[in-house]
Amino acid sequence: MAAYTMQRKTFVGLTVAACFIAIPIAAQHSSPVAPRAAELKAAVNAAYSLFKSDTSGKNADYIPYLAQVNSKLFGIAVVTTDNQIYTVGDIDYSFSIQSISKIFTLALAMEELGPSKVFDRIGSEPTGRPFNSVDAVVDMPTHTGNPLVNAGAIATTSLIAGANADEKWRKILEYYSKASGEKLKVIDEVYRSEAATNAGNKALAALLVKYDRIYSDPLQAVDIYTKQCSVGVNVKQLAEMGATLANNGINPATRERVVKAENIPHILSSMTMAGLYDSSGGWAWQVGLPAKSGVGGGILAVVPGKGAIAVFAPPLDGQGNSVKAQKVITYVSQKLRYNLFSPDSVGLGVRRPKGSGEQAKRNQ
Ligand code: GLN
Repeated sequence: MAAYTMQRKTFVGLTVAACFIAIPIAAQHSSPVAPRAAELKAAVNAAYSLFKSDTSGKNADYIPYLAQVNSKLFGIAVVTTDNQIYTVGDIDYSFSIQSISKIFTLALAMEELGPSKVFDRIGSEPTGRPFNSVDAVVDMPTHTGNPLVNAGAIATTSLIAGANADEKWRKILEYYSKASGEKLKVIDEVYRSEAATNAGNKALAALLVKYDRIYSDPLQAVDIYTKQCSVGVNVKQLAEMGATLANNGINPATRERVVKAENIPHILSSMTMAGLYDSSGGWAWQVGLPAKSGVGGGILAVVPGKGAIAVFAPPLDGQGNSVKAQKVITYVSQKLRYNLFSPDSVGLGVRRPKGSGEQAKRNQ
């Protein structure tokens, strides 16, 4: 109760403060559904100050490089579908995208093969198991499970066509760059650190061979997958990638089409079911937004039609999801009424004051 009161006070204070700050990006507001800059700024700033000194969680350490990343790093970026950009905290730090890459390789596989073939070859059932589970590969009828657990993601990477490993890898990296609207590159130290310690992923790929559920040389697929996980992004670049999904597949900054519009629901539904692995159900219950986490400390959440929020903070919970990132996204999405499963997300809520608009009147 005390914490709730404090949060409310902080939020009200920041909202009031935001009203007195010049808001240069408000003029760019051009989407009928994207949030207004002032409310966005207030919610993001409040979340930043509320959770900045939260020290719960622990850096991933099964990839040695990740264990030594400064666990105090904390950055937030929001990009709307009309390309309003709002950032706070450590926004220049380039962290490894890790498993968030899986959604963009899935997108590329669907661009190349179409969604039916990808669905047949990978599946889309939540495993209810950790992201690197061997048991899930054995037990799931599809073996691959879905494109967002390691086994399914390595199999998805194996679907990408190319004459050789280099050509496949170049295509993937170029695709991620197109989604972010900026040239991305691998963080070599992350790649080396992960390549030296990825025996578990090699074992998953070998097991998929047994079930005939991997579609290229398994070690080649693991190596390309390891590179894709090592791609560096800052929070703004990551939020642009998410805003591309929110914007029906068109990057809001470059206006380039990256993902076919008809593939977007397949990506967002996969994120809803498996984006936070074995805590995806709890996330859907509490937050109601498609999101994807990475063990580097990033989480990307997408609000269809409106925009995306990317948060980076390395300490993770037991499921491998950034603790602070989950708190920030939960807070911001509640403040801005983004839960997709709530009619409030399209203005049919009950919290607006009486007479504050036609919609509110209809709801009374
Ligand atoms: N590269 C990591 C791995 O394969 C990705 C896992 C993650 O981010 N959850 O284990």
